[in-house]
Amino acid sequence: MNARMPSSALNAAQALEQVSQKWDNDIVGQLKDYIAIPAKSPMFAPDWEQQGLLDTVLRNAASWVQAQQVPGLKLEIVRMPGRTPVLFFEVEGTQPGANAADANTVLMYGHLDKQPEFEGWRSDLGPWTPKYEDGKLYGRGGADDGYAVYASVAAVQALKSQNVLPPRILGIIETAEESGSRDLLPYVDALRPRLGNVDLVICLDSGAGNYDQLWLTTSLRGMASGTLKVEILTEGIHSGDASGVVPSSFRIMRQVLDRLEDSATGRMLPASFHCEVPAERLAQARATTQAVATATEAQRDFWLADVDLQLALYSTSPGAGAARLSSPATPSESPAQGH
Ligand SMILES: [Zn+2]
Repeated sequence: MNARMPSSALNAAQALEQVSQKWDNDIVGQLKDYIAIPAKSPMFAPDWEQQGLLDTVLRNAASWVQAQQVPGLKLEIVRMPGRTPVLFFEVEGTQPGANAADANTVLMYGHLDKQPEFEGWRSDLGPWTPKYEDGKLYGRGGADDGYAVYASVAAVQALKSQNVLPPRILGIIETAEESGSRDLLPYVDALRPRLGNVDLVICLDSGAGNYDQLWLTTSLRGMASGTLKVEILTEGIHSGDASGVVPSSFRIMRQVLDRLEDSATGRMLPASFHCEVPAERLAQARATTQAVATATEAQRDFWLADVDLQLALYSTSPGAGAARLSSPATPSESPAQGH
């Protein structure tokens, strides 16, 4: 961005206060409703079009954005035949010259399709049953990536309410990210004349190593995926009849995979899978590891201290004690009562 904002322009504490209230009073509720809708990505819901759930979550998000009445914000749901829909919004810039054809533009990105259910949920949790506990919202899709559209618009609201003059800001919220963003590029091509000069993309769809600081992702490993199938016979052969005559499908598959990867070390063999990692990326990776390690150690220290405290107070384990501590209104409850 060449139009730098003076750091005094935004009162960060005030913005944090405003955005936090917005989340507590409104957005968490929106995300609960979103979690309850199994809007799985097309790869996991081939009948997504008949189900209509991607349309539902996109419409719900669009209604919420519209209800915010952000000055200068226009939005539409864009639909190309046979492709998953996209929510596109545009907020006029209020900086001088911000809406000129070549003016620098910020693009916010997110997605509203979800990963499938998977297994391993705690017995009182599930993918489509939102639960808010200890400041964390459990359920499929809230963090990946339902929050993106709400975070984007809440940020714009915070700027506007402090009369900070933002550049032109766009939002593209797609619904096929978990299927490899297969529809995104055709939409970007179709919208290109309306995108203008995008010089900053904020992709609200990555991870965080702890909850104590803002995390930015500077690079991610790429991924190539596919389905490998080896076909030998159409029916099973009785033991003893066929070995040696019919090749093992596993042996064939191993040979194919061995062309790509050294099975002893995991090293990818084709040179095209390798590149020189820039020194600054290695430095960033080290700094990230250190920050995560520090956060993990702090969490471990807390748990150890908690164990000591619980033992001192109740001569019992933290799980049972924590439940008791969180309900101080019932001091008469005896430590012997179990769950
Ligand atoms: Zn995602």
